[in-house]
Amino acid sequence: MRSIVIAGGGTAGWMAAAAFARFLPREAWRVVLVESEAIGTVGVGEATIPQIQLFNHHLGLDEDEFLAATQGSIKLGIEFRDWVRPGHAYMHGFGQVGRGLGLAEFHHYWLRAHEAGTAAPFGAYSLNNMAAAAGRFARFEAQGPVPPMPYAFHFDAGLYAAYLRRHAEAGDVVRHEGRIVAVEPGEGGIAALLLDGERRIAGDLFIDCTGFRGLLIGEALGVGYHDWRHWLPCDRALAVPSARVGDPAPYTRATARRAGWQWRIPLQHRTGNGYVYASAHVSDDGAAATLLANLDGEPLGDPRPLAFTTGKREAFWAGNCIALGLSSGFLEPLESTSIHLIQTAVARILAFLPADRPTEADRAEYNRLTHVEYDRIRDFLILHYHANQRVGEPLWDAMRALELPEELARKLDLWRASARLSRRDDELFAEPGWTQVLIGQEILPERHHPLADAPGDRDLAAFLSTVADVARRTAAALPPHGDFLRGLSRAP
Ligand code: FAD
Repeated sequence: MRSIVIAGGGTAGWMAAAAFARFLPREAWRVVLVESEAIGTVGVGEATIPQIQLFNHHLGLDEDEFLAATQGSIKLGIEFRDWVRPGHAYMHGFGQVGRGLGLAEFHHYWLRAHEAGTAAPFGAYSLNNMAAAAGRFARFEAQGPVPPMPYAFHFDAGLYAAYLRRHAEAGDVVRHEGRIVAVEPGEGGIAALLLDGERRIAGDLFIDCTGFRGLLIGEALGVGYHDWRHWLPCDRALAVPSARVGDPAPYTRATARRAGWQWRIPLQHRTGNGYVYASAHVSDDGAAATLLANLDGEPLGDPRPLAFTTGKREAFWAGNCIALGLSSGFLEPLESTSIHLIQTAVARILAFLPADRPTEADRAEYNRLTHVEYDRIRDFLILHYHANQRVGEPLWDAMRALELPEELARKLDLWRASARLSRRDDELFAEPGWTQVLIGQEILPERHHPLADAPGDRDLAAFLSTVADVARRTAAALPPHGDFLRGLSRAP
């Protein structure tokens, strides 16, 4: 028997435990999880991206049961309010925007019409955006001109971890309640975790899910951290739930504020809110006042403070220890990518599961892939801050003047010059994500692709109006999101 020891039982710990319970042969692997109720979890982390459906599906979770168990709601995208300037708004919806007409991507045809003053806003050509704005949702299959409508979830992260725990324990994961007081070094890196009450938990592979502290990867093994606060300067958050007001909207709202931004995540039983801010630009009291002054419903408690350093580990896998979740790094939750990073890391751990001892080649490749993933998401987040017109506000002025990471600078130059996207296949966010944020943030290219000049003006106008019509009518024919939630079977 070989054993995997998971240190920590937040979202990361229980996602890993549930996946290991599902996929590792029980006769060969023993999975143990240690967590401390006294220390607790971060507890926030309520918005996701559509890939989580795949994770749930592979675990064999029933979607209705999952939504009922986690007080979940549907997320069709993110509305960015006031990011360009106060009063401005756009949506980054999941799924495609528009559809194919010729060889050039849809946004080139849209740009041509936009230059001529005949285009509707870019989001009018996205079914997800139209359905989100209308507050409507149903699951359906794409058919003919009607595009797919991919969706993700908002959920209560604590309930999700508890739900996964039930699955993991049913799959023979053994949970130990207690505080890890020391880490015993061994030949391969770590030999055992020492718990209060003089307990010792030995293992072959250790998964560090201890949160920001990185008890194993950082404190025990001394792996350093790349601090990215010069690129992503928000370093605090205040989170507060508020009473539900009406049916939950099927999208996340991210509203820019003077020193950061505020999230609104509507669940079935309450709304999650938080202000992510740069402590260099606002005091904690000032941030709390802003947050509390901008809630839709009554606050259900006092704002909970969280402090963090945006960045990533210098290595994610060192010796026989792999960092997962917040111990591996933190990109702020602007595009809801943290739980996704846990999901891809769990998949990668399974893909790189050592047959015997971890090899240096495996570690190197695992680390390379994870670094690329972090770096590309980081660039996408920086774009949101950088392309602003909020002149006179110190945080936003600094973000406009930022020296960009090289790859992002190259991407922006190319986009500005010719509306082309230099995307790599291993990037999380696909073209519709980049184009919606680039156009949404009002970075408009100098010219569109010459192939988009093929249709005559009248044909182009007819094409665009059909695409927008299909999106609008399909969205309008869907039931309200509230009805969808009320219709879920309630049998967790
Ligand atoms: P934690 O939740 O901190 O869990 C750590 C675990 O380790 C706990 O069980 C704790 O008890 C245990 N532990 C620690 N030390 C010890 C010890 N000495 N002994 C025993 N046990 C110990 N992600 C998203 O995908 N979408 C979002 O919208 C989103 N919003 C966020 C907003 C904010 C402000 C923040 C800070 C994060 C957000 N995240 C979001 C990230 C998300 O919350 C985390 O990725 C996720 O919760 C995983 O956390 P974790 O399990 O790594 O750590």
